[in-house]
Amino acid sequence: MLPEVGEDGQEKLFNARVLVIGVGGLGSPAGYYLTAAGVGNLTIVDNDQVDLSNLQRQIAHSTKTIGMPKVESARAMFEALNPDVRISPVRQRVTAENISGLIDGHDIVVDCCDNFATRFLINDACVLLGKRLVSGAILRFEGQLTTILPHEGHCYRCEFEDMPPADIMHSLQTAGLVGAVPGVIGTLQALEVLKLILGKGDVLKEHLLIFDGLKTRFRRVRVPRNPECPVCGNKPRIISLKTEIYS
Ligand SMILES: [Zn+2]
Repeated sequence: MLPEVGEDGQEKLFNARVLVIGVGGLGSPAGYYLTAAGVGNLTIVDNDQVDLSNLQRQIAHSTKTIGMPKVESARAMFEALNPDVRISPVRQRVTAENISGLIDGHDIVVDCCDNFATRFLINDACVLLGKRLVSGAILRFEGQLTTILPHEGHCYRCEFEDMPPADIMHSLQTAGLVGAVPGVIGTLQALEVLKLILGKGDVLKEHLLIFDGLKTRFRRVRVPRNPECPVCGNKPRIISLKTEIYS
């Protein structure tokens, strides 16, 4: 019924092929809304299995699927919501070796992972393959969102050139969070994907959106493309994906 979508738009959604990496706190709401909107082909990648401690934020899973691979648990939930969507579960850890094969055949990548190494790997792979990427991240009460259109706008490394030191990465990744925050960011990731598919509105190209859940405040920060960027800059030093870059 929306003039921005219409029958044409519904057709575009149905033909779209979206890859969601991670079906945890971000991938659950993102996957839910993409499925509900009628995105026709959704590949979900995750190597984990459902644990009771996940359930305060990972709403694609339930007490009935504890112990099950997350991709199977999420598939059952998404298919029950919309049986017309083709869900392809891939139970794998994303690595420098397999990521190009996973991305191949998809129009848009949604980064819903929970660690820096994978976030940098997904960014670099999308830049090298020229694939559009919607990236989300969460820490405690704060969430971040950005949309990367390779060589048209910035990439993740234009702002954060390299991964933080190992001890900082570890403390950030084990910091804990409040479930509704990834709910907000994952939902916005789905909205960015829908706009990219429909070609409507403005996405967060060259912008980072920061959400402060404690203060209920959104802030948009401009992130220009960096000509010195190691992957999308004028003289890139990352020209292929090597495991040692991400360990
Ligand atoms: Zn860049």
